[in-house]
This record gives sequence, C-alpha cells and structure tokens, in this order.
Amino acid sequence: MNFKKIILFLAVLFGLFGVSSCDKKEDHTHTYETAWTYDDTYHYHKSTCGHEDGPKEEHKWDSGKVTDEGKVFTCSVCGKTKKEDISIETVTLSAPKGAPAIAVASLAKQKEDNYSFVAATNISSELATATAKSDFVIAPINAGAKLYKLGKSNYKLAAVVTWGNLYFASQKENFSLNDINGNKITLFGQNSINASLANYVLAQKGITPSSVEYVAEAADTQTLLASDASAIVLCAEPAISAAKLKKPNITSISVQSLYKELTGNDGFTQAGLFVNPSAIERNKDIVDKYILEVSKSIEKCSSSLDEIAQICVDLKLLPNLNVAKSAIPLCSVKFMKATEAKAQIETTANIDLSQFGGALPVEEFYYQF
Ligand SMILES: [Zn+2]
Ligand SMILES: [Zn+2]
Repeated sequence: MNFKKIILFLAVLFGLFGVSSCDKKEDHTHTYETAWTYDDTYHYHKSTCGHEDGPKEEHKWDSGKVTDEGKVFTCSVCGKTKKEDISIETVTLSAPKGAPAIAVASLAKQKEDNYSFVAATNISSELATATAKSDFVIAPINAGAKLYKLGKSNYKLAAVVTWGNLYFASQKENFSLNDINGNKITLFGQNSINASLANYVLAQKGITPSSVEYVAEAADTQTLLASDASAIVLCAEPAISAAKLKKPNITSISVQSLYKELTGNDGFTQAGLFVNPSAIERNKDIVDKYILEVSKSIEKCSSSLDEIAQICVDLKLLPNLNVAKSAIPLCSVKFMKATEAKAQIETTANIDLSQFGGALPVEEFYYQF
C-alpha cells in the first residue's frame, strides 16, 4: 500500500514538471523578465512563464532636460525617453558687428530678420531696460555688468563668447612691444575695458608710452593704422586683417598673449551672451535651447572655418573670404557657460573694477541653466 502511494506521488510529480513549469495550478508563481518592456504610454515586465505579462503602468516622466535634439523626458521607472521639439524660430538677438557677430553668423544666416548687428558704440542701449528689444544681446561683459549694477539693465549673463581680439599694431618695420616705450600710442574706447586692458599689459611689461591718445572705436584706429606709417595703435580683429589687405607690412602683437603671460588665463572675458529675463519668463526651454545653438555656432568657427567665412561674407559682416579666413581664428571666439567662467570674469574685472560698476558682479547676474 505504502509503496503504491509513493509511486502515485512520483507520477504526479513527474506530471507536474514534465508537461510545463506553469500548468494551471493554483500555487504557481509567475515569472517575468527583469528588464522593462515599454510602449509610448506604459511600461511592464514580459512574462517568461507563458502567462500574462505583468501589470502595465503609465510612465513617470521627469521634468525634462533641454538638449541639442529638443526637450528630452525620461521615465524614472523604466528609463524610456521621449522627445519634444523646441523651436528657436522666434528668438531675436542684437550684437555688435565684428567678433560677436561672427560667433552667431551661422544662426543669423538661417533667420536674418531676427538679428540686428549694430555699431559697437551702440550696443549698451540694446541692454538698457528702457530701450531693450531683443531676447539676447552679445555685448562687452563689463558693459552688461555695469548697467546691471546700476539697475539700468536686467539682462543676465549666460555665457562668455569671445576672449579678446585686441592687438597693438603698426606699419613700422620689425614692430615690437619696445617700440611703444617712449612713443605715442593711440587706443580706442577711452574709459572702456579694452583701453584698461591695453594699459594694464603695457604697465605690467614696464612699457611707458610718451603719450596715450584715444579715439572712439576700432574702426578709427584701423583708419589711422592704414594711413599713417609711423602710427602705433590698439586695434581689434577683424579690422586689422582688413587693414592688412591694403597694407601687408602691418605687424600686430596680441594683447591676449600678453594677458596670458601675466594671468595664466587663456584670453580675457571680453564679450558675453546676455539673456533678457522676459524671454526666460516666456519660455525657459527656448532660451536654453538657443544657448546650446550658440555654442554649436561658435564651435563651427573653428571646425568649419571655410563655411563660416563664406557666411560672414554673405551677411556682409566681413569684406571678403581672405579677410574672413584670416580674421576669424584671431577673434578668440569660444563658448563657456558664465557660471563656469566666473573666476576668469573676476580676474578681468579686477583689472579695472570701475568698468564693472565698482564691484564684482553679484550671483544673480549669472544666468543658471
Ligand atoms: Zn505563469
Ligand atoms: Zn516607464
């Protein structure tokens, strides 16, 4: 009798394992894949026992991240991502002609009407609350910082986009820094950070000009440089490359290289990308996406020089391809988030704090993204 019971027990046992691991037995435990399976709406675990899949649950999307490809949301449970396009079609920007305009040339080419390139001397009014109109402005960082400090502008600094395009230049034969010692020099932009930086590097190098004269802007020293063979000037790219076309005997000395010798920093924080707080309020995603697009546009200035040179000529930012190819690499166009460039901004500011409104920029001046 006992023997029969054992046989029966074994038969049931074999039956159980022999047919299928999950026959319709009430004590069966379903098994599932450990990896998530998902569709657009739900995530769930697929069954491995031949029965129904695990319960479907809706994705739990995070608040999203602005990327090159748009806004990307990630499900915090299964890791699936979904993408939403962000259109920057309506974004407007003002910048001075010259290096800052070059930085955004490839964007301006796509939507010319949204860009205004103004004379360098007029850029402050683009930042001033009373006359501001653009979502973004590229301007000297000190100008934006000063207006912000004075309560005349509420534009925030998003990024540093140029790191110095200043050069001492002259037609003199074998022109060197020592030629400035005991000689007259003409700088542009009295009471500007450019003049302060030029004076700073000269003083630190022990160079004392016999006299320092000032004209309004780089275009004025460019004229002087080309017309007076004995003139020594402070000028800026791309104006110098244009002058060299007519006077190939012009020699230029980089103020940025001298600044690097003195501070260890790779150029000074010259022009910045400023954002209008009303644009942030309207749609922060568009603002953040646009900043990414500016960084890509800037990258192209070194990775696709020929293409950017052609665009700059098409947009009449530069007179011809030769000037463009020579000047663009000399404009020190490079993108760095303002929050990451803070120490370098402060090094530049400390050379002449009065150009920054008498104090280092406050935390709120920096746009966080
Ligand atoms: Zn099962
Ligand atoms: Zn999910």
